Amino acid sequence: MTSTESFFDGPFEVESDKVNYTDEAIFATYSYQTTMVENRNGKTVVMPQTQNFEFKTDRQVPRVGAMFVGWGGNNGTTVTASIIANRHGIVWNKKEGEVRSNYFGSLTQSSTIRIGNNECGDNVYIPFKNLLPMVNPNDLVIGGWDICSTPLGDAMKNAKVLDYDLQRQVYDEMQKLRPLPSVYFPDFIAANQAGRATNVLKGSKQEQLDQIRKDIRDFKSANNLDKVIVLWTANTERFAEIQTGVNDTAENLLAAVQRGESEISPSTVFAIASILEGASYINGSPQNTFVPGVLELAEEKQVFIGGDDFKSGQTKVKSVLVDFLISAGIKVKSIVSYNHLGNNDGRNLSQPEMFRSKEISKSNVVDDMVASNNILYEPGEHPDHVVVIKYVPNVGDSKRAMDEYVSEIFMGGTNTIVMHNTCEDSLLAAPIIIDLVLLCELFERVQLKREGAKEYERFHPVLSVLSFLLKAPLVPPGTPVVNALFTQRQCMVNIMRACLGLAPENNMLLEHKLN
Ligand code: NAD
Repeated sequence: MTSTESFFDGPFEVESDKVNYTDEAIFATYSYQTTMVENRNGKTVVMPQTQNFEFKTDRQVPRVGAMFVGWGGNNGTTVTASIIANRHGIVWNKKEGEVRSNYFGSLTQSSTIRIGNNECGDNVYIPFKNLLPMVNPNDLVIGGWDICSTPLGDAMKNAKVLDYDLQRQVYDEMQKLRPLPSVYFPDFIAANQAGRATNVLKGSKQEQLDQIRKDIRDFKSANNLDKVIVLWTANTERFAEIQTGVNDTAENLLAAVQRGESEISPSTVFAIASILEGASYINGSPQNTFVPGVLELAEEKQVFIGGDDFKSGQTKVKSVLVDFLISAGIKVKSIVSYNHLGNNDGRNLSQPEMFRSKEISKSNVVDDMVASNNILYEPGEHPDHVVVIKYVPNVGDSKRAMDEYVSEIFMGGTNTIVMHNTCEDSLLAAPIIIDLVLLCELFERVQLKREGAKEYERFHPVLSVLSFLLKAPLVPPGTPVVNALFTQRQCMVNIMRACLGLAPENNMLLEHKLN
């Protein structure tokens, strides 16, 4: 790199007495600075704190398999076809001209990070994916399950997401891929999905769980993989009821599967199977797969779980816009979100129980921002927040999201922002799916310990660092939930920087602030 370059796309090493590279790992010492606030007899005291941590990041990038539940759906086929297209560098034609395969919309593949300044004082950016050793999505081995037996080539055609000229070029390779039979308990998804259920496992709940475990093992060994990550991108299920003695503890949950209890959902069966196989499990839909028994099982087995619900379109905008408004001192008073979509997911959501799952996951996304400002909001006060989803077959995967934000501004004024967003839903979700797999895998290779501790530890099994990509972030018990999008991004980037002994991005640019 010459000193005038402000972007570089290549390997680099950190030169610091706090960082040590071996063939196996990057070791970094990191001073974590926080601020403690205490109320002492009515007096508030604010105390800067510093704690030293040691980070260890394995450098060997493993061979990874991603197994999707709902592989034959719009997201599953779009992500698979796109990876195949990128792998082969496919170029196709639209009426506007040629398009080259890309990973636009992927945080890891298509966004950059400011790594520092060059000698001229300019910002220097690198691809996000170059910060730490990461899997190349083109190298992912993909497999999965679907209750629908349609081979992936035809399923991709049915999805009507990708351009015809691209479908044509990946069809043969896609058509060879066939989803494994899946767990189908009709009570958990809409009745209108019954016609798709042509590829379902038979037998007791325990037998089905055992089969899913075997599928993961077989996939791993058949493809010579170092690890497998399982991700739910199947239809949204209704919420499972939390029942004492059934899904409230890990022990009860495993016993309940053996008894064939009815309140155990297919997604919970997949989560249990993955955890028992040591495969991280990510939930891309809103349902409460992670019942207390699953959380406990993940903690016992120290396997990562991440969720819930991909944060792709409307919610992503919301978690930026409301953060902007409230942090600018503007009082958001109502948020109304209408969606209509015509894909199979929309059809499934047209049944009230499934819509309810989506409504819940979409509705808490501004809570932390509202709670952060007691000047604008009384404790307990909240903007009105209404979410409506309607199924309109004609629009297919091209989802419409219409939002109205009404805020109170200076001296009793009103500010109304109205937004109309039209986009192929699965083209937003597919890169997020790739990021979830890649980042989850990366964080499996990161360990840390407090200064003086003997053993390195992995992150808590509830992998909250994935929150940027998820609508209703799952966090370890007792941990604050952060929804604001750029706070979530900074959390992830700063943790990755810490793995290299680099200070968090502070945006102060003090070097430019003096005469
Ligand atoms: P889709 O209906 O096209 O695909 C879902 C697939 O899951 C179907 O092929 C269906 O046969 C299969 N399926 C249903 N139950 C199953 C089971 N028990 N086991 C295995 N397969 C099963 O839907 P989609 O558009 O691909 O979305 C998938 C999920 O992602 C939905 O739950 C949706 O809410 C969620 N999601 C999507 C987005 C987005 O932008 N596309 C955003 C957030 C969340």
